[in-house]
Amino acid sequence: MTTLDDTIGVLRRTVCALHADLTRYNLVTWTSGNVSGRVPGADLFVIKPSGVSYDDLTPESIVVCDFDGKLVDGELSPSSDTDAHAYVYRHRPDVGGVVHTHSTYATAWAARDEAIPCVLTAMADEFGGEIPVGPFALIGDDSIGRGIVDTLAGHRSPAVLMKNHGVFSIGEDATAAVKAAVMCEDVARTVHIARQLGEPKPIPQDDIDRLYDRYQNVYGQ
Ligand SMILES: [Zn+2]
Repeated sequence: MTTLDDTIGVLRRTVCALHADLTRYNLVTWTSGNVSGRVPGADLFVIKPSGVSYDDLTPESIVVCDFDGKLVDGELSPSSDTDAHAYVYRHRPDVGGVVHTHSTYATAWAARDEAIPCVLTAMADEFGGEIPVGPFALIGDDSIGRGIVDTLAGHRSPAVLMKNHGVFSIGEDATAAVKAAVMCEDVARTVHIARQLGEPKPIPQDDIDRLYDRYQNVYGQ
């Protein structure tokens, strides 16, 4: 029989390993990004500890928090973004993973308070439309979490650019949320480069719908 401790142990290893993807894909500098994952069957999630370098992360160092962002298990303090992750888990029962980064190109769009328009078939596939911008929000209360949830409620996109800040992405699990963060930076870069030489051409909405539907429901093994 699998105990809650076993489940948390597996999730700690998964979320620890996923932080290596943040550095592999150049999404983070110093300790600026974090990954969390919902504990199946419990009102808990695991998240990166605050201020620990990616090279020093171990599964044991990943902390367990409740949906109020309070530390439940672990030696270290949770990430300073824990309240935002907790808010998302509280309000989105469908979300199993949350990622936050300040990845360069996506954050440049956030700095301009500008949504990334859907001008690539890969964007239609993954995001089903534009990647929206959420409100300017300061750390310390629910305003970042609320901004993420409220903005994503009106979009298919699993990623949101928080104004003047950076990217939050969600997924059915932590791996899917990391994928969304990686793809968000990739399309942010491509559309930025496209804009240097002209105005990128929008994709008609019915084609976006067809691409999104095929990719979400048919593509893959
Ligand atoms: Zn941040």
